[in-house]
Amino acid sequence: MSDRDQINRRDFIVTTAGVAGGASALAGGAIAPALGQTTPPLPSGIDEHSPLAQYWEKPVAELVGRVDLKAHVPELSNESVKERHRIYCSLLMALIQRFWNGNKRGPRGVYPYRVDQKVPGQDPQAKFFRYRGDMIKDEDQFRVNWDRYLGHNIACIAVDGNGEVIDFDFNHNDFFRSSTEHAESRMVRRLFSLADVFDNWRTGEPVPGKSRAFSLQDVTLYTSLESCAQCSGVMSLGRVRQVVYLQHDPGTYRVGNIMFNLAGRDPADQSTLSPIPIAGSAIDVPQFNQLNEAYEKDDPRREKSEHPRSSIFRSAGRRAGRLRSIHHVVLMHRRRLRDFFRGSRRA
Ligand SMILES: [Zn+2]
Repeated sequence: MSDRDQINRRDFIVTTAGVAGGASALAGGAIAPALGQTTPPLPSGIDEHSPLAQYWEKPVAELVGRVDLKAHVPELSNESVKERHRIYCSLLMALIQRFWNGNKRGPRGVYPYRVDQKVPGQDPQAKFFRYRGDMIKDEDQFRVNWDRYLGHNIACIAVDGNGEVIDFDFNHNDFFRSSTEHAESRMVRRLFSLADVFDNWRTGEPVPGKSRAFSLQDVTLYTSLESCAQCSGVMSLGRVRQVVYLQHDPGTYRVGNIMFNLAGRDPADQSTLSPIPIAGSAIDVPQFNQLNEAYEKDDPRREKSEHPRSSIFRSAGRRAGRLRSIHHVVLMHRRRLRDFFRGSRRA
């Protein structure tokens, strides 16, 4: 290699490094407006005062990363309001614990890993057997043994504007061999299907001559997992007021936040056009971090995790449950939940 070549190579490197350095130095200044200029204009037909227009040129982090709860749920600054939300969260966890049953083909069938659940006295040559569900060995009167399958994994409750619990449901994907039978979505459909039942539930503005409001503006859903796009969409169409969740779901890419931030409020009555997503952390649910951390450690997608995969929940038949973390936390807090409900029953 000649001296001339070496000089040329050095010149080349210096020149290239100079361009690269210059580019990075410019990144925060001169190039930023240039990138900004590439933002396409707001599509026609979108009101320039709409939330979408307000977010149009902002970073994605502002749209997805947060919901301004101080502005939209100012009552959360009141400790008693947060405690009320926590009580419903405890109720939801207690119901999951009470009705959890992984026997998704019902009490009659064949569950080879659940021999401990078999009702005694059956013909051992029979084709099908009856199973009692997970048998609890201690004398926990609030977790009776239960042989009926009500769904599993995620569950939610609906609470009306007076604070009354309207209904409770589990995810039913397995039962219906469907990927859309989620708890929140089922719950919204059920609330509408109850439209002709006369009751005192306060679900929204009454419709003249009808027993039930057309929307669910006064309804809060409490769900054990952050809602997906389907459920956020169904809740939005149903005009559910807010949704409180006990655990983040990384698979939902914070779609609840996106929808709420973009939907805004009804100009007529300022009601929300998509439910306000309230994470358990915003109301100091102590299990919120535990659930998220348990999921992190047990995330099946993290095959080479520093934490080896472990099943948190095991049924009486010693077979790992599919969703481990919620049940794990409920079991951990069983005594506290029991004391809580005993206390409320006495009161
Ligand atoms: Zn869903």
